[in-house]
Amino acid sequence: ATPMSVMVGVGKAAEYGALIRQGEALQTAGQLDLVILDKTGTITEGHPTVTRVSALDQDEPRLLALAAGLEKHSEHPLAEAILARAAADGLEPAAVDQFHALNGKGVIGAYQGQTVRLGNRRWLEAEGLAVRDLDADTDRITGEAGTPLYLALGNEVIGVIGVADAIKPDSQAAIDRLHDAGIRVMMVTGDIDATAKAIATRLGIDEYRAEVLPEDKAEVVSAMRGKGYTVAMVGDGINDAPALAAADVGFAIGTGTDVAIESAGITLMRGSLHGVPDAIEVSRATVKNIH
Ligand code: ADP
Ligand code: MG
Repeated sequence: ATPMSVMVGVGKAAEYGALIRQGEALQTAGQLDLVILDKTGTITEGHPTVTRVSALDQDEPRLLALAAGLEKHSEHPLAEAILARAAADGLEPAAVDQFHALNGKGVIGAYQGQTVRLGNRRWLEAEGLAVRDLDADTDRITGEAGTPLYLALGNEVIGVIGVADAIKPDSQAAIDRLHDAGIRVMMVTGDIDATAKAIATRLGIDEYRAEVLPEDKAEVVSAMRGKGYTVAMVGDGINDAPALAAADVGFAIGTGTDVAIESAGITLMRGSLHGVPDAIEVSRATVKNIH
């Protein structure tokens, strides 16, 4: 495109809330045929809430206080949910020290000399902890598109907390517009398969990858480019930065982290996925104009 038509396109995109940081991104956007969406904070609000608390010994307040004691030290959106619920129930977080966050797995610390862990099943089982007697609760949580987080004290799993994140009101319409534009839509998430499947099915997403560790998201992008797709990646988190940089066009959610924004060619200032089909339409119109 001529510099003039690109300038007009950049201006038009800005009207829709899509801030173009790399001029090239606007020209490439019209050629995209695969859009990969992160789940948490991109398709969903990124502000999960606790939907269910179940302790094997029926002491739900103790379970929540322990979980809150761990999450007090974490900055993950899941931590926000657990701390808000503990506060709403009038619970004081337990005194947990030696805290560590493990990317894509969960959080670990010490409580009264015992190791305490909160995270996903795959991680706890890899640590040699058995998640028994919680299958009925797990099914209820995943059936509501929630994520089960298991709490272990010492070597015992003592309960499960269900956390769910609402889908943004306009995610469905934005995905429909991408489909209407002939674009394939894929979702990548660190979340478990059951939850990912529930969301992908509800929104008509063509393909999804679940339990993708943060460092592996960029590999998914590269693999799809290797298959011949012109790929957009849309994400909001620190974890998404390498994947955004690996895509033909990276779209960062404007309410997301600075690192994501710096790694992306386009920033969606309104936090809405509509900015993706908007940018694609503007790009197609801009490039057509000069032929
Ligand atoms: P996403 O790709 O959905 O943004 P993450 O890679 O951040 O997800 O996390 C993947 C999974 O790791 C979560 O679904 C959860 O099971 C576990 N996890 C990560 N951080 C925490 C935390 N602070 N507390 C509990 N579980 C966590
Ligand atoms: Mg995210």
